[in-house]
Amino acid sequence: MTGGGPVGGPEPGPETALAVVATTPEVLAHPDLDEALLAPWERRRLAGIRLPSRRDDVLAARLLLRLCVARATGLPPDTPALAQRCPGCGEHGHGRPYLRGRPGVGVSLSHADGLVAAAVGPGAIGVDVEPATRRPGPVHVLRRLLPDADVAEAAASPDAGPALLRLWVRAEARLKAGQVGESGHTSHTSHTGHTGQTGQSAQGELRLLDWTDRPRSAVAAAASATRVTIASL
Ligand SMILES: [Zn+2]
Repeated sequence: MTGGGPVGGPEPGPETALAVVATTPEVLAHPDLDEALLAPWERRRLAGIRLPSRRDDVLAARLLLRLCVARATGLPPDTPALAQRCPGCGEHGHGRPYLRGRPGVGVSLSHADGLVAAAVGPGAIGVDVEPATRRPGPVHVLRRLLPDADVAEAAASPDAGPALLRLWVRAEARLKAGQVGESGHTSHTSHTGHTGQTGQSAQGELRLLDWTDRPRSAVAAAASATRVTIASL
């Protein structure tokens, strides 16, 4: 891997960000991943989820995140202590995920209807995944949540549904990375990667990358302080 600088602090961390999208069944079938990797508090939370498909999604997202962290740091998947803290109320057990004792490593996860995504990187990071068929909206609601000009532009494009969805996952990723508010001007460029179309732009200090995973019919976005590499499971 290239790019990025050395990460400060006593622990070596990833130099660039890594993001993975997978289906829930793919993750649950992975030989290195097992529910036993979860912390007791995570298993208690899983036990409280009534809907089996949603429980599987939550489990898969947490396992995928462990796999990402293991790949990015070289640590075994059962090493990192995944924790969550809510920026709203300050309580643990929900809200923004982080790795206990590794402040230099940012983590994020997402799940939606049989799809999961996870990302790890140096510093702030956010990831979001949605089924490609999902249509956020209606537009008047989106206008309250997203920058007006961006919504208007996406809604007026010939492919309004997919354009609004891309806007949505980018906003979610940015929110999870801790950056809220106006997106500012976007220098949006697109290129084709191995997973399909991607668009990358820098917004403030965060780079925003969105891509379409055609085999899984997923649209995802990552917001990161550094270059993001999209990897497979
Ligand atoms: Zn809270």
